[in-house]
Amino acid sequence: MKFSNLKLTTPYLNLKPTFYEKVDPTPLDNPFLISTSQSAAALLGVDEDLNLDTELLHIINGEKILKGSETFAMCYAGHQFGEFTGRLGDGRVINLGKVNNQNLQIKGAGLTMYSRLGDGRAVLRSSIREYLISEAMHGLGIETSRALALIGSDTAVRRERMEKGAIILRLSPTWVRFGTFEYFYASGEHDQLQVLADYVIDESFPYLKNSEELYLNMYTEIVKNTAITIAKWQSIGFIHGVMNTDNMCIDGRTIDYGPFAFLDDYNPNFVCNQTDKQGLYSFRSQPGAARWNLDMLARVLSPIIDYDDSEEVLRDVFWSTYNKVYFTLLYDKMGLQIQQADDKELSETMIRALAASNIDYTVFFRKLSRYNGDKSTVLDSCINKDPLDKWLNAYDTRLEKETRDEDARHEKMLAVNPKYVLKNHTLQEAIDKAEKHDFNMVNALLTVALNPFDEHYTLEHLFKPTPIKSKNICLSCSS
Ligand code: AMP
Ligand code: MG
Repeated sequence: MKFSNLKLTTPYLNLKPTFYEKVDPTPLDNPFLISTSQSAAALLGVDEDLNLDTELLHIINGEKILKGSETFAMCYAGHQFGEFTGRLGDGRVINLGKVNNQNLQIKGAGLTMYSRLGDGRAVLRSSIREYLISEAMHGLGIETSRALALIGSDTAVRRERMEKGAIILRLSPTWVRFGTFEYFYASGEHDQLQVLADYVIDESFPYLKNSEELYLNMYTEIVKNTAITIAKWQSIGFIHGVMNTDNMCIDGRTIDYGPFAFLDDYNPNFVCNQTDKQGLYSFRSQPGAARWNLDMLARVLSPIIDYDDSEEVLRDVFWSTYNKVYFTLLYDKMGLQIQQADDKELSETMIRALAASNIDYTVFFRKLSRYNGDKSTVLDSCINKDPLDKWLNAYDTRLEKETRDEDARHEKMLAVNPKYVLKNHTLQEAIDKAEKHDFNMVNALLTVALNPFDEHYTLEHLFKPTPIKSKNICLSCSS
């Protein structure tokens, strides 16, 4: 199947017109294809080479339309850094329709009625970041929206400096956000909350249909899925940066990538977004922020689910799911096969030792994945060696209780402790080159992003420790 032969449907347009605006994209000038993800295309049933599909570029640029497609922007509201805004919506995203349970959107495709003061555009810099991180999160095994292709253009876009407009084609099984429910609660259209919930159940939780307490079950799934995603973020060292309710996907996957980061040295207080002066979305705050967002969702669902019932679910399900998943992932990262009574304490002392050691979080686990009792192989990467030296003594003792041999343990650990995560300094290098029309690094990063646990011997240069001056980069929201 060729991408340009896909036939879309538009079930969202069966909802009332208050849910969306029908709007045409505004094409960019002199568009050109920069990169494609065949892996994302496979989700649509597309197996023909995207780079040979001459219509792809024009479809992403909104000049050509896929069969069955009708273009529209979705409305939503949201709590942004704790403050409620009643009307946000797709200000620069245009939806094309749905195929194979994936909703297609072009981001940066021009003005909509939800653009407010924005220009409807996305710059190349932030589009490269979202394109690559979407595919990287998938490679890391974290539920996420995907990105099928990235195009650039000559269209000038004003940010802090003049930049060039770009568009990514992104996919997700749903683009409904916590903020979509907040919109209909705030606008007083409470009858539409149930309509939206039915849509969400149909789209994201069809297995719940016909269950008793349908809407409460839906909420329970949202709580569970969100807790699982955040546990994965914490285990891999990912910081989203803008956990506003409009950026929280209703099925719990990660969406809307902005000033995200991966931990350099393990620093639980790290904040990667310059706007976030209070550290509301610091690394360690993420699980609590997710829980807060889920509570906001429970409040606006109160016309269809008794708030006390949702609160009970939130209380019973969120932290228990989060802790179970987080610690299981951490034990896997440590290579511990069968859980023992003291493993939780061992993992907690490890995290404390990491915080005191100035060692890169990702590098530490990759080194630990080949640890053979020679402490220097791990400690060589630390500035302050004592805390991890002590912890490795306890780890050595614990490993004696393992039944799996060392090679088997290493193999399992290398499959869960990535070598490649997309650090901001590496992304910036790819962006600098792309702005000079050299897209090789973007494409090379896509390869490692999709297979982050493998060694890529010809791409070894992409695995660089973060230079001291580039550690803990805090980015602006400008995009
Ligand atoms: P974000 O920070 O990307 O989650 O965006 C927050 C809100 O601002 C969403 O409603 C976006 O659609 C909107 N927005 C962000 N940038 C632009 C832009 N350049 N033009 C129009 N709307 C935008
Ligand atoms: Mg957003």
